Amino acid sequence: MVYPVVVYGDPVLRKVAVDIPIGEDIIKLIEDMYETMYAADGMGLAAPQIGKSIRLFIVDATMVEDEPDLKEFKKVFINAQITEKAGEESLLEEGCLSIPNLRERIPRPDRIHLTWFDEKWQKHEAEFVGMQSRIIQHEYDHIEGKLFLDHLSPLRRKLLKGKLNDISRGEVDTTYRILAPLRK
Ligand SMILES: [Zn+2]
Repeated sequence: MVYPVVVYGDPVLRKVAVDIPIGEDIIKLIEDMYETMYAADGMGLAAPQIGKSIRLFIVDATMVEDEPDLKEFKKVFINAQITEKAGEESLLEEGCLSIPNLRERIPRPDRIHLTWFDEKWQKHEAEFVGMQSRIIQHEYDHIEGKLFLDHLSPLRRKLLKGKLNDISRGEVDTTYRILAPLRK
């Protein structure tokens, strides 16, 4: 089942998401999230983006060419916690299915240490760097009620206000179905 993607302005994107009870059967939900993400041509999707304020996000960046790092980067992250951020900050352009047609250069540290469960409820702990780290940080922001916009300067955010208002009203072209909070 393909969900509509919740877009900017919806309060669910601003909530800190809650842990999923360990062992809960979320296989169908994960399948639906992959279906939703692929239908929208995304490489990451977090549960709040389909209206569910729970600590779950998925990534699949295996289709990115010229990035050997990402060749096998398809994973499910449940109840993730970043326990450490380190390394030099870099600026890279990011987009977000919940903020359609807007790409901005976002500063993020290079390295994170993360704990999480996979779809079989196996616990993991690992360090991620580079592009993998960046993609995880973007999705992790979603389960913390944050958006990439929060990393921009106040001036830049002000300049984007008109576009963001249009998105909240559903006045934006997308190839996928969206749920706009202020659509009449
Ligand atoms: Zn996003």
